[in-house]
Amino acid sequence: MKELILEMEEYASLKNVPIIEKDSIAFIMKYIKKNNIKNILEIGSAIGYSTILMASVSPEVTVTTIERDEERYMECLKNVKKCGFEKKINVVFQDALDVNLTGVKYDMIFIDAAKGQYTKFFEKFKYFLTDNGIIITDNLKFHGHVGKSSEIESKNLKSLVEKIENYIEFLKDNKEFETNFYDVGDGLSVSVKKNEK
Ligand code: SAM
Repeated sequence: MKELILEMEEYASLKNVPIIEKDSIAFIMKYIKKNNIKNILEIGSAIGYSTILMASVSPEVTVTTIERDEERYMECLKNVKKCGFEKKINVVFQDALDVNLTGVKYDMIFIDAAKGQYTKFFEKFKYFLTDNGIIITDNLKFHGHVGKSSEIESKNLKSLVEKIENYIEFLKDNKEFETNFYDVGDGLSVSVKKNEK
């Protein structure tokens, strides 16, 4: 397992595949363990690095992960097989915004896909959370750009950073969820669903 993880880190670095920072995945794994989280939905598998590490927390953890890039999806499948997690991890090859989920609920949803679509992912998938379920989002600092969009000259980057800034405001204003922000890795949020009264 350790060897596979190192292999994946090397592959990601060679092929320029973005994977989660070590501090962030360590934080998430700790959270999963502490809160006895069993059923996870991940948006954005890439090559399965965070997927496999989350699934490794305990034998009871299962992960459904969605990836729209075919090459990464294939690599993810290969890695899931290599560590023998075929029964714990379900890899879905589709755009997350087109996925149809019915009759399933997750204790945790991890959003780690297209940054410009965070609000859409949140609004679509929040219905698939268990009571007190949580949504974790990565890259809220976006390499230090967030909070400084007015200083950015590149149009595309500016627009992307503005979308993340808007997502942060959306989380802060959200009455259905209580969100905490953590200065870990590239910036994480944990949004806990409030109990309906
Ligand atoms: N969670 C992975 C890890 O830490 O090992 C990293 C995921 S990477 C930051 C983001 C991935 O999300 C990319 O591989 C990209 O192809 C995928 N992605 C982006 N938008 C998506 C969408 N709408 N549906 C499915 N996958 C998407």
